[in-house]
Amino acid sequence: MDTATARKRLEEIRGELERSIAVLKGEQDSGERVSDYPQDPADAGANLSESERTQAVLHVARAQHAEVLDALHRIETGTYGICVDCGGEVPEGRLEARPEASRCVSCQAKWARSRR
Ligand SMILES: [Zn+2]
Repeated sequence: MDTATARKRLEEIRGELERSIAVLKGEQDSGERVSDYPQDPADAGANLSESERTQAVLHVARAQHAEVLDALHRIETGTYGICVDCGGEVPEGRLEARPEASRCVSCQAKWARSRR
C-alpha cells in the first residue's frame, strides 16, 4: 500500500475515532448510556455497569487513536510499514486490514503476550 493511500485511510479512521470519542465522552459526562456505538453482546463486559462499559470502550478508542496518530507520524518520517520492533517489513495484507499496525505479525504476537 502506498503512503498516500495509507494516509487517506488513516485520516478517515482518525476522523471516525474522534467522533466516537466525542460521543463517548458526552455519554460519560452526562451519565447516559451509549446508544449508537456498536457493542459486541458477547464481549467480556457483560457484567460491567454502563459507565464502566463506556469507559472501557473509550479506553480502546483512545488507544487506537494514539496508534493512528503514530502511524501518520511514521508516514511523515518515512518509516511507515516498517516494524517498530525488528525493523522488518510489515506485510501488505496486515496494513490493508489495520493501516495503523506498527509491528509485523510475529512482533505483534510477542508484544500482545508480554502485555497479558
Ligand atoms: Zn517485527
